[in-house]
Amino acid sequence: MHTPHSTRRTMLKKLGALTSLAIAAIGASLPAHADDKVLNIYSARHYQTDESLYSNFTKQTGIRINRIDGKEDELMERLRNEGANSPADILITVDASRLELADRMGLFRKINSPVLNSRIPANLRTDTWVSFSTRARVIVFNKRMIKRDQVQTYDDLANPKLKGMVCVRAGNHPYNLSLGAAMIAHEGEAKTEAWARGLVANFAREPKGGDIDQLRSVGAGECGVAISNSYYLARLMRSTQPEDRKTVESLGLVWPNQQTWGTHINVSGAGIIKSAPHADAAIKFMEYLASDAAQVYFADGNNEWPAVPSVKADNPALRTMGQFKADSLPVEQLAKNVATAQKVFDRAGWR
Ligand code: FE
Repeated sequence: MHTPHSTRRTMLKKLGALTSLAIAAIGASLPAHADDKVLNIYSARHYQTDESLYSNFTKQTGIRINRIDGKEDELMERLRNEGANSPADILITVDASRLELADRMGLFRKINSPVLNSRIPANLRTDTWVSFSTRARVIVFNKRMIKRDQVQTYDDLANPKLKGMVCVRAGNHPYNLSLGAAMIAHEGEAKTEAWARGLVANFAREPKGGDIDQLRSVGAGECGVAISNSYYLARLMRSTQPEDRKTVESLGLVWPNQQTWGTHINVSGAGIIKSAPHADAAIKFMEYLASDAAQVYFADGNNEWPAVPSVKADNPALRTMGQFKADSLPVEQLAKNVATAQKVFDRAGWR
């Protein structure tokens, strides 16, 4: 079954499905350039609570939303191919490194909104894109195999005492590159490279799978400790599946680096497309996303924290996980270090 040919066919089928969806959803709105009652969103986020998020905006403003849901990289590729003819007004995606890449591709226009400037903390926005929720990169360990005080910092994971214990996804994944980028900002390139080498030397196995696979492997005792985004742990904590309950019971959570620069956080965010046919509606939508009600929906859809500090997430898993000191590094600075992080991880052999 899994010949390269069938893989290619699946990929083509996926692309085909995406294209026909696009024609169905967006084709109809193409003549509506002068119609500001329409907004075209390309979104790499698609969760159940997002439906209310979008319908509430339409209720409040009368602006109808056409949405293309897709994988992050597919949507960026699509925007690149469509160029100035793109019907897209807004791109919503995850990870500062991807938002920065979209910016470097020239996809975004400058945003100047007093509402966004006052609602979203300065370290969570740039001139061209804005974060609407945050997630943390945490340490999760097997309570039977590892003591909490052995894994208090990212640096601890490179300690030779943890040889054969560490599981983590591939080094070239944006989540890890962003963590590396933050480390470079705080500790410098040389220290980050030494850390990556130590981490690789401690691997329980070659990196494979996503964060949730690492969590399950820690639960099963195949690894002693893993690095994961907080929302994957929250998702497991909220699961009613017996095997997930069992996994969660064996896991301990550490907020890394509480005595130093804080736990690395990343974001979900959005930018307005340079050629946006409905720029006024787009800025209205961005400002709407920063409103109290939309913040709750947006964050809760993926078990994240609202970017607006006064809005409190009412999420049972996040409440259980508790408070922590988050890294306050500006997302823009983080994103700028991602290319260096890739080189550092390549040299360290973190594939
Ligand atoms: Fe994810």
